[in-house]
Amino acid sequence: MILSKVSDAGIAPQVIEKFKSIFGGQPIVIRSPGRVNLIGEHTDYNNGFVLPAAIDKAIYMAISPRKDNELHIFSYDLGQDYRGSIDELKNSSLHWPDYILGVIQQLQNSGHRPGGFNCVFGGDIPLGAGLSSSAALECATVFALNTLFGWRLETNSMVKLEQRAENEFVGVQCGIMDQFASMFGRKGHVIRLDCRSLDYEYVPFNMEGIKIVLLDTNVKHSLASSEYNTRRKQCEQGVKTLQEHYEGIESLRDVTIEMLDKWLAASDPLIYRRCKYVVEENTRLLDACLDLEKGELRAFGRKMFGSHEGLSNQYEVSCPELDFLVEHVKEVPSVLGARMMGGGFGGCTINLVEEEAIEGLVERIGDAYSRAMNKELKAYVAQIEQGTSML
Ligand code: ADP
Ligand code: MG
Repeated sequence: MILSKVSDAGIAPQVIEKFKSIFGGQPIVIRSPGRVNLIGEHTDYNNGFVLPAAIDKAIYMAISPRKDNELHIFSYDLGQDYRGSIDELKNSSLHWPDYILGVIQQLQNSGHRPGGFNCVFGGDIPLGAGLSSSAALECATVFALNTLFGWRLETNSMVKLEQRAENEFVGVQCGIMDQFASMFGRKGHVIRLDCRSLDYEYVPFNMEGIKIVLLDTNVKHSLASSEYNTRRKQCEQGVKTLQEHYEGIESLRDVTIEMLDKWLAASDPLIYRRCKYVVEENTRLLDACLDLEKGELRAFGRKMFGSHEGLSNQYEVSCPELDFLVEHVKEVPSVLGARMMGGGFGGCTINLVEEEAIEGLVERIGDAYSRAMNKELKAYVAQIEQGTSML
């Protein structure tokens, strides 16, 4: 059982120190955070709502311009060196440079001409755990280059450009939530993001005495990507059926439970269950925001449990490990809410836990998890923090 408590205060100076020892001179430093999503899962590609927040785990990027077109980049966490040229962007066998190169390529596509640069980056977002270290790296890159070369890009266009970079250069079909949350995050708030219009609103999230605890199952079942594609198709199929009966339906965002009851419940119970989850999850999220506005965090937490229930039984994207972790905290009074977070079939659960209970809880659940699943549980404690900015 590992309770990760790395303090980010220590990392920025280390990254800057490393930069100076390799390159010399004074870099600018960008902090770009990971993110959580409190509620609203599998709603993004259905034109629905999500409720992410930036967290206190981040990537720190120290960077300065070069006089030539070369790229000298050092990954502090992996201890790896990358050298390339701005004039010849190709996928790297190291993989991590692709997130940076993809952003450069998109900048070039939109008519910008970055020069070469020296860069060291590192941080404390666990890689591949579902906290969006990849989006943090992209946000750090575009924010850094925008500052370095003085383009005054709009935040919105930076976020869209990052998504294209991950889609096209890295080859991951991600939505826009991760990049959006890392860039737009605000301390003490969650972001209610409308994935149809990209309109967003900050909703105050009072975390006094409470922290976010991420419990990492340490599994990634191979079903994840094929089932993800299947779910997308099932939702599209539901929409198609309803389009035969109603005007103006473009996605599940335009659909009500009554419509589903009438046209899908009897004829196609599987598609019905899938669509019903999505429609209910959107409503649940909007209701959960009302709870936050009233400061009723317990009511908010119950909706997180409701979200998990739907993901597990109706949408069927959970797994025994995730269900075990949520089931285990359900009756614990110090846990306000919990659910699986991310695509499913592995990854983390997100829990709202009273601060003084965290250590004991993590220890107990870690023991129980390793006994039941024969796997190690990792835990990360997080708080809501500001989005991407210059230090
Ligand atoms: P997630 O975004 O959930 O953390 P991804 O698989 O989307 O997982 O992205 C993880 C990848 O991003 C890593 O494999 C690595 O290539 C890159 N990356 C993210 N953070 C760092 C870092 N601090 N140092 C080096 N590479 C990183
Ligand atoms: Mg990612």
